[in-house]
Amino acid sequence: MKRATFPVKKSRVKTWSEIFQNPRPVTVESLKTGEVEIQKVGTINPQHPKAVNVKDETLNVPIMAHIIHHEKFGAYLIDAGLDASYYNDPRGNVRGLLARFFADEFHQDKNQNIAFKLQKRHLKLKGVFLSHLHSDHMAGVRELPKDIQYVVGKGEKYPEYKPFLYGNYLKGIETLHEIDFSTVEPIPPLGPSADLLGDGSLWAVSTPGHTRGHMSFVVNGLEGPIFLTTDACFIREGLEMGVASSDYTWNVDKAQKSLDKILKFLNEYPEVKVICGHEDPYFES
Ligand SMILES: [Zn+2]
Repeated sequence: MKRATFPVKKSRVKTWSEIFQNPRPVTVESLKTGEVEIQKVGTINPQHPKAVNVKDETLNVPIMAHIIHHEKFGAYLIDAGLDASYYNDPRGNVRGLLARFFADEFHQDKNQNIAFKLQKRHLKLKGVFLSHLHSDHMAGVRELPKDIQYVVGKGEKYPEYKPFLYGNYLKGIETLHEIDFSTVEPIPPLGPSADLLGDGSLWAVSTPGHTRGHMSFVVNGLEGPIFLTTDACFIREGLEMGVASSDYTWNVDKAQKSLDKILKFLNEYPEVKVICGHEDPYFES
């Protein structure tokens, strides 16, 4: 698989207020493609001073993908969730000598996979933006068309370790397009923010920490702006406490820095609705 730079149009806007004053015809539809068990301690870093009292418990959280519907440009995906292989096999056909020890295990109901949900909506995707390359965010790519653009943050590692552990998640994709945030204009307080479709509707924000090239997203729709943290914050409680994860995390300090700037942004722009990485926004508890 080749890597190529994703061309980011230079944006003239300097602030999020300017952007939100010019909303675009774009909406988000969130899809649950499975579930995963995680531990609260680790999902919330117990070393953080604000989290000293965090009690451990097992949480069942959804594995999400989000359709971006743009009135003019069509449908894009943010993350791919899971493909249908997880319905019969919790390890989703992951192969390799160490698969039975280390493969991630997920739960999936029938017809919860990403391709089924897209077909049901008669959607033809234009492209896929992957927040990062972990199996719960990219396994669904295995059942998506390959002749569209797939985009990640620059430096994001593709964790395939043949012959030990591999899922062939991105098999068939000729070129992986990368956003080089070092060349993208910063918009405070979020830092480098890329105008993905060139009309101010959908923005990728560099939020490293969970992984090297991790990205979060701003959707600037007519119904008000939405911030998708993806795995810069897994669950609502992490956001409320202001504490990033320590488990499943490449760099804990950077993860906390990324969450801190997200919190600053949400504080400055209280009109922004937020959806965490492993949160189903339609589920009312
Ligand atoms: Zn995740």
